Amino acid sequence: MISEKMMDFVKNSSSIRAMFEEGKNMAAKFGAENVYDFSLGNPSVEPPKRVKEAIAEVLEEDSPNLVHGYMLNAGYEDVRAAVAASLNKRFGTGFDESNILMTVGAAGGLNVILKTLLNPGEEVIVFAPFFGEYTNYVKNYDGELVVISPDTSSFQPNLKEFAEKISEKTKAVIVNTPNNPTGVVYSEKTIMALAEIMYKAQDEFGTDIYLISDEPYRELVYDGREVPYLTKYYENTIVGYSYSKSLSLPGERIGYLVIPSEAADAENIKAAASVANRILGFVNAPSLMQRTVAKCLEEKTDVAAYDRNRKLLYENLLKYGYECIRPEGAFYLFVKALEEDDKAFVERAKQFHLLLVPGSTFGCAGYVRLAYCVSQDMIERSLPAFQKLAESYQ
Ligand code: PLP
Repeated sequence: MISEKMMDFVKNSSSIRAMFEEGKNMAAKFGAENVYDFSLGNPSVEPPKRVKEAIAEVLEEDSPNLVHGYMLNAGYEDVRAAVAASLNKRFGTGFDESNILMTVGAAGGLNVILKTLLNPGEEVIVFAPFFGEYTNYVKNYDGELVVISPDTSSFQPNLKEFAEKISEKTKAVIVNTPNNPTGVVYSEKTIMALAEIMYKAQDEFGTDIYLISDEPYRELVYDGREVPYLTKYYENTIVGYSYSKSLSLPGERIGYLVIPSEAADAENIKAAASVANRILGFVNAPSLMQRTVAKCLEEKTDVAAYDRNRKLLYENLLKYGYECIRPEGAFYLFVKALEEDDKAFVERAKQFHLLLVPGSTFGCAGYVRLAYCVSQDMIERSLPAFQKLAESYQ
């Protein structure tokens, strides 16, 4: 018999994954070209050519222990130093290898840092809409998730409610910008106001409150939008990064955590995070991928392809009468459902072979998420289905 805790996890198992399975079944039934699957954030853009070359180069190297062996749980020192130098160059920060811990993607990094920080019952604040997996990650370490309700006019964090809900029990706050599912980039003004609330709360409660910046979409921005680097606004910031989207490597499981030396208790956090990486069973991030990304720190994915998809879908959906915030980053559209119940809307969409994810998965009912990291061709073929779906409500 499985554990009670796992029973809960299984029962609430991600509807995004369920949709992915359903997509495959529908494709078998109706033909793949007649199913429009916008459910999963799996990049359609190939990894940059340099990534493939770098993998081959690493494999050609002659010292198996330097490529395939165990290393420090935090990762290869030269790889971490290269990551730190690249961040310093881009953001004017002052990191060195001791501030970087290589992780098994963003998911691995978030689990490592939450295991490192959380005592049972301590609270982690998230802003709806948010990546639904945070609920599971916080539960993994018996933390309590506190959800701040969405501001659906701008999809920036609702700071008034945040100031009310931050408490002596708050251990961490997770932000994700550019955001999954809205595509919104939190403005510098928002970040400064958020930092001010957190500094004030730390003073008032005499506690350390950590800001966890989950940023797998940092480089996926449009129209020259800037994404503030959060360690510069709030000292107790820990950054979780991933190459899943920026280099189209989600299956390879590679990312890193930044634990700045200015963060409260930084030395203990670095040491504990390294142990957490090991005892969660990751041991260390995949060695081949560590070596590969270190050779590709200047590489960029084809953001222009996602931008074309963004415009094509956004402009046509508005034409058909849908309401949606214009995404500034990531590769998602967060569209208002045409009926109150987002799950019923998702069911209706399926009749038109459109696979969408209900907003309630992200703590924001009444909306649906479309992942447009798909082929442009599929988007073009799907447009009549979106139009018919809208007409079915008239
Ligand atoms: N955080 C957010 C906001 C995401 O959207 C995702 C994946 O879609 C992840 C974390 C997990 O990313 P990774 O594949 O790097 O574990």
